Amino acid sequence: MSEVLSLPGRGNTYFYFTQMGEDGFSPAQQQYIRNLILAYRTRFPGLEITAVWDFGMEGGTPYENDKYGVFADCPDLAVSNRDMASISFNHIRVSRMPMDIPPDLLEKILTHYEAVKHISAMAARMRPELMSQGTPPAGILAAVNEEASKYLDEKGIPAEEIGGADHPGCIAPGPHNFLPLEDPYFADVWAIRQLEESMSIRRLTVHEIGHALSDVYDVSRDKRVRRLLAKCRDGFEDREEFCAECFMASELTDRIPLANETAAIYRACAKCTLQAFSERL
Ligand SMILES: [Zn+2]
Repeated sequence: MSEVLSLPGRGNTYFYFTQMGEDGFSPAQQQYIRNLILAYRTRFPGLEITAVWDFGMEGGTPYENDKYGVFADCPDLAVSNRDMASISFNHIRVSRMPMDIPPDLLEKILTHYEAVKHISAMAARMRPELMSQGTPPAGILAAVNEEASKYLDEKGIPAEEIGGADHPGCIAPGPHNFLPLEDPYFADVWAIRQLEESMSIRRLTVHEIGHALSDVYDVSRDKRVRRLLAKCRDGFEDREEFCAECFMASELTDRIPLANETAAIYRACAKCTLQAFSERL
């Protein structure tokens, strides 16, 4: 089935979704994605998305193809293609997801974010003091862990929900966030990572729209983005992911300053492009 969405902005958006019963997108999920794209294209007239489809539409069978293998095992959930201005979804895996992030999960992430912020600031205060007393690194870690565990106990937050598996009592740099605990951006990156790992069609679609917007407005190459990323580089895979992840986070909540700052750069870049466009007319 294909359906075209015509808007006054840049070109049309064509939707192609495999019809396959229980394994693919339901009509309600398809409608939800269409509405999301419509809303963002209305907000950002420069947003160009030519096609939205699922992996099944890219060839092979609805369950597998050469590029991705068996869709149910493929780690990619969605892919945005800059050259084609398209977004494709792994319909097999994504169709199991809720449309939006459950409100109680969002609230939990934001409550934990406040705790992480507190612990990070505490670690930043403790480290220089302990170092000046000649405490060895292992002793500093143990002391920070102890204080962190005490604080989490007080707040009634299970430590393992915040720390990694190896450090249930504290927050340690992990594979997705290599910033040290006392880094001023540690907590913001932690919260963005939690949102990134929450599974919903909205989160996934908005992340891909973040890539598409960055492509049309050149956000990732903007000087302000480069400057901002330089401060928290170890928290992100690269500049493109930084932009898409911060944009996504800013759309789910306005409580993470790093995400808000990046979203403000998106808006500024969009305005510039719009101005340049109208001056050419
Ligand atoms: Zn991405």
